[in-house]
Amino acid sequence: MFQNNKQRIALISVDGDPAIEIGKEEAGGQNVYVRQVGYALAEQGWQVDMFTRRSHPEQAAIIQHNQNCRTIRLKAGPSQFIGRDHLFDYLGEFLGEFQKFQQHQGFQYPIIHTNYWLSSWVGMELKKQQPLIQVHTYHSLGAVKYRSISNIPVIAVQRLAVEKTCLETVDRVIATSPQEQKHMRILVSTKGRMEMIPCGTDIDKFGKIGKTEARKHLGVAADTKMVLYVGRFDQRKGIETLVRAIAKSRLRGQADLQLVIGGGSRPGQSDGMERDRIANIVAELGLKDCTTFPGRLDDTDLLYYYAAADVCVVPSHYEPFGLVAIEAMACRTPVVASNVGGLQFTVVPEVTGLLATPKDEVAFGAAIDRILTNPEWAQQLGETGRQRVEIAFSWHSVASRLAQLYTRLLAENPTVTKSKSQVAA
Ligand code: UDP
Repeated sequence: MFQNNKQRIALISVDGDPAIEIGKEEAGGQNVYVRQVGYALAEQGWQVDMFTRRSHPEQAAIIQHNQNCRTIRLKAGPSQFIGRDHLFDYLGEFLGEFQKFQQHQGFQYPIIHTNYWLSSWVGMELKKQQPLIQVHTYHSLGAVKYRSISNIPVIAVQRLAVEKTCLETVDRVIATSPQEQKHMRILVSTKGRMEMIPCGTDIDKFGKIGKTEARKHLGVAADTKMVLYVGRFDQRKGIETLVRAIAKSRLRGQADLQLVIGGGSRPGQSDGMERDRIANIVAELGLKDCTTFPGRLDDTDLLYYYAAADVCVVPSHYEPFGLVAIEAMACRTPVVASNVGGLQFTVVPEVTGLLATPKDEVAFGAAIDRILTNPEWAQQLGETGRQRVEIAFSWHSVASRLAQLYTRLLAENPTVTKSKSQVAA
């Protein structure tokens, strides 16, 4: 596919490096999205360059993943981790480095796909200086996020303004769920062109290990009731609700109930502090004996943990999409999730799992107990979840839909595909 019309595309994700370890502070769904979309587009013949900022002095400036796909790390501020809320001032430098890179390579990208509001700013500035198509995915909307947190950062005003301009002016904004689409229209702007293309998951990888094998590998007994959380340690992820729900479970003392809270953290950083806060609540509620924190789970670990679990819980206060839910579903594990954002789209209540009101530990406890006490029904939920992911959420189909969109936009705007931007034959 596309062999005769190979195009270069830049995926820009200033704050979300597609080539770093996932599961620690600020490295989550966005990084996975950029990486997987990049790989899948490259497989379909696109020349994909994924741009991010350098966040460590020892990081390679360029990683060649395969013939068609590389990660390029540009300088934008000091080579150290800088939280998203403090990156805006370095975007001018990133933009300059991007332009230098293009100049050095002797071509301009006809199409860029920007990720998160910071990169949308870079894309919009670039578009003032060269003809290009800009497609954007928000990953998180300030207008929604700021309703669910109490300490609104100083950068909020800037972010909301950039998000509005982006929606109103770029060539296409990707909503990853109908819920995100609605939020954009109601809370960001009634103007602008949108298209709904969901996030995806690797359906060949997730789901290839069965429950029995996974439990044997992890040393989990067949009759253990295993409840799993996977994700970053961030208050908005609602892990506290899950812990309190487990404390209220009527299975406590009746069965071997095990809570596994998977995800990386760094001592002294905000994720490390959230992990400590959660560990304190676990101790206060007398759950230490039945709770484990295995740390960051790599790609292989994840397959075993998802497959071994009886239920995977996504208790977020706000979730634009929520990759963890579809990863668990791909592994045939039912999901109990908050009734918010993209989780309302991916998890079909009573069919692939259950939805509960965010922060409502009683509702979460009841939903988890219902699944744990009905193993046959749980199995059905898991099977249907798998089918839903196969039909709607494979990276391959997501990338194909994105590729069709890019191709259409390029065809509608022939001026951007001048010789300067073509890949050498
Ligand atoms: N993840 C991981 N290892 C961990 C914790 C999380 O690989 O220890 C991955 C997880 O599999 C998922 C991503 O991080 O692909 C989290 O994405 P999601 O959309 O659920 O949440 P976000 O981090 O974007 O808020």
